Amino acid sequence: MKNELPKSVQFIKGVGPAYKKLLGKLNITTVEDLLYYFPRDYQDRSKYVPMNSVKPGQEITIKGKVLKIYEQKIKRGLRILKVTISDGSDCINGTWFNQSYLKKKFQKGKEYIFSGKLSDKAWGFGKKEINNPVFEELESGETIHTGRVVPIYALTEGISQQKLREIMYKALSDFACHVNDLLPDYLIKKYRFPDTTTSLWGLHFPRDRKHYIAARKRLAFEELFLLQLLVLQRKKNLTGVKGVEHKGEINTLDKFKEILPFELTTAQQRVWTEIKRDMARPVPMQRLLQGDVGSGKTIIAAMALVETMANTYQGIMMAPTEILAEQHYLKLKPLLRDLGFNVVLLTGSLKESERSRLKELIKNKEVDLIIGTHALFQEDLEYYKIGLIVIDEQHRFGVEQRFKLKDKGDNPDLLVMTATPIPRTLALTLYGDMDLSIIDELPPGRSPVITTWRTEKARSSIYSFVKEKINKGRQVYIVCPLIEESEEIVAVSAMEMFKTLTKDTFSQYRLGLLHSKITQEERKTVMKDFREGKIDILISTTVIEVGVDVPNASIMIIENAERFGLAQLHQLRGRVGRGKYQSYCILIANPRTEEGTKRLSVMTETDDGFKIAEADLEIRGPGEFFGIRQHGLPDLKVANILKDNRILITAREEAEGLINNNGILKYKYPCLYNKLLNLELKV
Ligand code: ADP
Ligand code: MG
Repeated sequence: MKNELPKSVQFIKGVGPAYKKLLGKLNITTVEDLLYYFPRDYQDRSKYVPMNSVKPGQEITIKGKVLKIYEQKIKRGLRILKVTISDGSDCINGTWFNQSYLKKKFQKGKEYIFSGKLSDKAWGFGKKEINNPVFEELESGETIHTGRVVPIYALTEGISQQKLREIMYKALSDFACHVNDLLPDYLIKKYRFPDTTTSLWGLHFPRDRKHYIAARKRLAFEELFLLQLLVLQRKKNLTGVKGVEHKGEINTLDKFKEILPFELTTAQQRVWTEIKRDMARPVPMQRLLQGDVGSGKTIIAAMALVETMANTYQGIMMAPTEILAEQHYLKLKPLLRDLGFNVVLLTGSLKESERSRLKELIKNKEVDLIIGTHALFQEDLEYYKIGLIVIDEQHRFGVEQRFKLKDKGDNPDLLVMTATPIPRTLALTLYGDMDLSIIDELPPGRSPVITTWRTEKARSSIYSFVKEKINKGRQVYIVCPLIEESEEIVAVSAMEMFKTLTKDTFSQYRLGLLHSKITQEERKTVMKDFREGKIDILISTTVIEVGVDVPNASIMIIENAERFGLAQLHQLRGRVGRGKYQSYCILIANPRTEEGTKRLSVMTETDDGFKIAEADLEIRGPGEFFGIRQHGLPDLKVANILKDNRILITAREEAEGLINNNGILKYKYPCLYNKLLNLELKV
């Protein structure tokens, strides 16, 4: 290892307590933080334009000899310093207001570089001016702000681009050569990577394009390599662990399949084989089940749960909302009762007495399956013997919660289900510690949902369409962005909509209202009535977004659809198209932004969750889309998780090679090893 880097940024010349504090706002506290604080952009100031060819308002970099230095007093308290430089073709003034002290920095006859925006006023020979140009003397050695490609950093108030650039330059000059090279030698040789020092310089102050590209490639690789090591390490930590070995209780499962009202699709059969194989192994299962909305994940979960219960373990199923938990409960309870299993529902809104009763039952193994929400991992809950945990709709849960729940048992198997179609390579990163199963086929007999985008004007014709369908026995969802009227937000509220529609248009029909402010009891009743066909139109907020399953509901109207994200719209739409009837999704929207318009056209163009996810990614960018932090992974500073696909795959392969090569990491590559430990602590 090399000499240790000094810890605090205060060791850098020019950084006192005040700047230390400001840097802190940028999350920079150590010298290393600083060196890894990369530019958000660059500006090419490496080319000097001839002064006779410049145009008003242009951003330019010029080089010339100082002809004249003089100061003008305009009026009291206002002085202008003018410095004229010339390259022989013409001359240009640099001007500064009330900065007399700069006079000393210039010397007649010496060469300087100016960089800045030409004024678009006062034009003509000898009147070309740059206000407040960035300037440097040419002879003073290497230039930092001009005469090169310069870095542009994200700033915080109180620190200027120039100041940060100077601090960075100093830090690089003094310390870049002390940064440990994290990558093993053999990788540096194999991929002909530049060393760390060269790479850090290349990202901050690239000599040329080649320098930058090589530097970026190396640092992006390093970042993704670390990330992969981290997730593979997590995965490996589990393989030594003894988990639950499910014996494959064929009889019970066969019975279960018999009582199912349908045959499994080919895709369902395939993923079931994968899951069953995992569950039979002594190593704890860590599997992600991905399948578009409506692809039939629930039944697969149920089969896995039957498998664990038949092996005399308890099963746990966690959903992100109470409505969804209730629904799973209602659906699974009768099926499982026939097989002799006891199912309970445990949510946050249980009465205390009821909760205590359940708690006892769970502890004494009088229930086999516990379905619930986050309430499932409350501290005081003791389980008897957990064999399998199923988490539905993973995108709402963080890794942390995943681990917390696992702590409740003795390394139970884990099945996580998500409807977010993540490109495979990306899944390798975000869920690198998990294996992936994909249901890529919808159950038969589904007709694609017809989606249209309408404006307010079409409302009455939409309503007559709805009436026609209700008269034929169908049911309808109307989704509103708000619960109640709001003064700040102009959008349709569920309560208001319910009132209006009950009063006139749909007064002869049965309407229901659902949102998060009504009581648990009311909500249960409403959902039950809707499921049983006692409600024709369910007016609701996005509480119905995930998982609600009423096949007879074939129309969904989404009010102010421009207010919803793509993923959300797709989830909502997934509530219809679940039965044998042609289904419709009507988006009522008046988008004000290009992005909003784009979202709506994507929705009308495709029904394919994968395409929608890709469009969403494109519109929103990966950071926001996946919430990388939420997955318990460090932020990426250089690599782009989507665009650097090839680097990602290489990094994955190399990381696998190193992890499998047991034990050498710690002894042979101590820097790398320590870095990983640090990262694991930080996330
Ligand atoms: P999701 O993947 O969105 O959770 P669900 O598991 O809720 O989807 O399934 C959607 C609907 O499809 C449910 O009504 C379910 O009973 C039905 N379903 C699931 N698998 C099949 C199948 N193989 N054949 C017919 N219908 C199925
Ligand atoms: Mg589901």
